[in-house]
Amino acid sequence: MVITGTTKVLGIIGSPVAHSLSPQMQNTTFAALGVDYIYVPFHVLPEDLATAVAGLRTLSVVGFNVTIPHKTAIVSLLDDLSPEADLIGAVNTVKCEERRLVGFNTDGSGFLRSLSEDLACEPQGISVLLIGAGGAARSALVALAGAGAAAITVVNRTMEKGAVLVNRFQPFFPATFIKSTGLNAFEQPAFMGGFDLLVNTTSVGMNMTSFPKFNPSSMKPSAVVYDMVYAPLETPLMLAARQQGLRTANGLGMLAAQGDEAFFIWTGRKPEQGVMRKFLLTQYAK
Ligand code: NAP
Repeated sequence: MVITGTTKVLGIIGSPVAHSLSPQMQNTTFAALGVDYIYVPFHVLPEDLATAVAGLRTLSVVGFNVTIPHKTAIVSLLDDLSPEADLIGAVNTVKCEERRLVGFNTDGSGFLRSLSEDLACEPQGISVLLIGAGGAARSALVALAGAGAAAITVVNRTMEKGAVLVNRFQPFFPATFIKSTGLNAFEQPAFMGGFDLLVNTTSVGMNMTSFPKFNPSSMKPSAVVYDMVYAPLETPLMLAARQQGLRTANGLGMLAAQGDEAFFIWTGRKPEQGVMRKFLLTQYAK
């Protein structure tokens, strides 16, 4: 890659940021397309967020991704938000348009695309079991309800956080019945029987961890299971579901779809089909 006086700059801000695969993933895509962009990591501490964002605005970078811990704090520093980012209250992608900073949230759309591509699952009219009530759960809930899910049951370790999610979003989606409960729901054998889709949005599954009472044996044979965790590529939850004959997918497709979408937001171009997913697979299938 040759950097010239006309090379356009993109990046990611976060703390930590060194672990991010986005620089390699995006730069691999730029190389495949032969476009004159470069994507770099910026380590930004929470107390420096406002000055860092002002600097990026002044430098007229094309855009940047936003990761932990800045996704919520950056909202008030931007000029405009996409409808999804506004509703969710968090931003993971920023586009700089003539010094105006516009925030997007691609978690939900990346999730829906992966759900469709990897499991042929469309949310219209289905009943969903959503595990978790953090940032990823908010995005998934908004995406699923927005795509016409009939019912969403949020299961979370801290029950109050699940209830907050229900109260926050139910008014926006009157056609979706949204409720919440605690992890002890897994202790009732019949609980799992009514769902068409199970989504894990928690970090449980990383390091091969699992939910103590999770048992998918009473799930419908047609139900599908999506785990947003992608390292390992098959979590204990996915393994248990596969052993019941259920179709499963990990979060790698979601990660790649978000990379694709950010690239499109910044450049107006669609990246080569599958190039980001292929890169991620080379990293995680080790
Ligand atoms: P977050 O806001 O910190 O939320 C974490 C959630 O996990 C909370 O609901 C928390 O429950 C739950 N949790 C954590 N440890 C738990 C445990 N030991 N037992 C039960 N529940 C536990 O994090 P996030 O941003 O939503 O991210 C969550 C996961 O999704 C991460 O693993 C992240 O890598 C993944 N993710 C993947 C993608 C992708 O593209 N594939 C995108 C976004 C996120 P409490 O409320 O009780 O604390």
